Amino acid sequence: MVQRNVRRGMSRAVLESSYFWLLIGCVLTLVAMVGYPHLPERRLQLITDRSEAYIYADEKNSVEWLNMEELRWRCHIMDSHNGAFCGFNIVLEADRNEGLDFSQYSRLNLGLSYSGPGRSLRYYLRSRVPGFSERENPETHKFNQTQISVEFLPEGLSIGLDEFNVAEWWLAEFDVPRILSGPSFDHVTSFGIDLAYPITPGEYIVQLDSAELVGDWVSRDTWYAGIIISWVVVLSVFGSYQLYNLRKRVVLERRRAEKVAERNRELHQESQQYRELSEHDQLTGLLNRHGVTRAIERLFGDPQKAVSLLVIDIDHFKPVNDTYGHDVGDRILRQMGEVLSESVRQSDRLARWGGEEFVLLLPEADGTVAQTVAEKLRQRVARTYFEALPEQSITVSIGVGSRLSGEDYYSLFRRVDMALYRAKDAGRNRVELSLGA
Ligand code: GH3
Ligand code: MG
Ligand code: MG
Repeated sequence: MVQRNVRRGMSRAVLESSYFWLLIGCVLTLVAMVGYPHLPERRLQLITDRSEAYIYADEKNSVEWLNMEELRWRCHIMDSHNGAFCGFNIVLEADRNEGLDFSQYSRLNLGLSYSGPGRSLRYYLRSRVPGFSERENPETHKFNQTQISVEFLPEGLSIGLDEFNVAEWWLAEFDVPRILSGPSFDHVTSFGIDLAYPITPGEYIVQLDSAELVGDWVSRDTWYAGIIISWVVVLSVFGSYQLYNLRKRVVLERRRAEKVAERNRELHQESQQYRELSEHDQLTGLLNRHGVTRAIERLFGDPQKAVSLLVIDIDHFKPVNDTYGHDVGDRILRQMGEVLSESVRQSDRLARWGGEEFVLLLPEADGTVAQTVAEKLRQRVARTYFEALPEQSITVSIGVGSRLSGEDYYSLFRRVDMALYRAKDAGRNRVELSLGA
């Protein structure tokens, strides 16, 4: 079962492969080329019920039918003078002046029995030249002729129409313009056989058994042009189809890429949101301890960079919570966050370190500047009217310190935290500076 499916899948893949169809095309082309000579030929019998047969000779010689039905006649040449002639002629159609178009044929096949002293016979096809020949005067019809040795007759005579030439006497007699002087077979009115010059005296018996024209239905040029045109058409259709498919695929791919890009944007946005959430404190909206880590890493990455730290702690916050409730405590924390962030520069980093404790990092600030900032903050908080607790003022104690050369954050934090304790011990609502390690 599995094997059958695999085989079916394979044959489908083969059918869909352009190489397979290319191979089929090559095989068909080869067949068309090799098969051309085997195509059926077009044939035309010259002797029909409608054709009229005549025999003729000059007055010094004689001609007679031996059997008119079988087209057998006899010429008796007694005097082979310069103007002697004797022959046979069939007028091809009842409408003898219109003529038949032989231009699609390439050969004239004749079955001929012959006996006589002459070594060759002359064959001719008279063709009316429109605009030049007189319709009613067969003499003015072009005399296409060829003279062939009788030795070929026993094996059956096949004369190429390209073996014919136009008789000199006809060209001279009618003063034919050069453009009309070549053989033509488009309005053939009669076909004839006569004795060729020089005529040998004696008795000739000739019988015409068959006369047929043979030609290709499709000329070799047309056939090959057809093959080439077929290839051009097939390749153009195939190429256009491939292009169309490619375009469709490109459009689909582009759409898919756009979708992926959009999804990426969404994911990026989502991750930004999560990052914001993970780096910010929900209550105050300030950076949390995790969120401030990047700023710490950046500021403390270069051992020489000046940076100051403030640790800000709300005084007696536990009693506020205990007395007025957690909700009041939260509102005070939120407003504290707003007051502090309104008072700092854009390059400063303010974060809620935990509980009721905040840190403020001041890049490129020394101890004096940091102490000034801390003092300003302390005063501002002390002046602030906290909506959640109208009848009581809220104060903060602040520890301040500047980084010593090469000192890391946690060492600085310990020192500043100790300064904060000193501020608490000294009565709160104070700023204390850590002077050194
Ligand atoms: P001190 O002046 O010595 O700092 O005294 P304190 O009461 O402020 O200090 P303590 O560390 O004893 O109390 C801190 C209190 O902060 C404890 C807790 O009730 C309160 N607190 C911490 N986090 C929150 C919070 O997220 N919301 C509220 N409402 N209160 C908090
Ligand atoms: Mg505290
Ligand atoms: Mg406190």
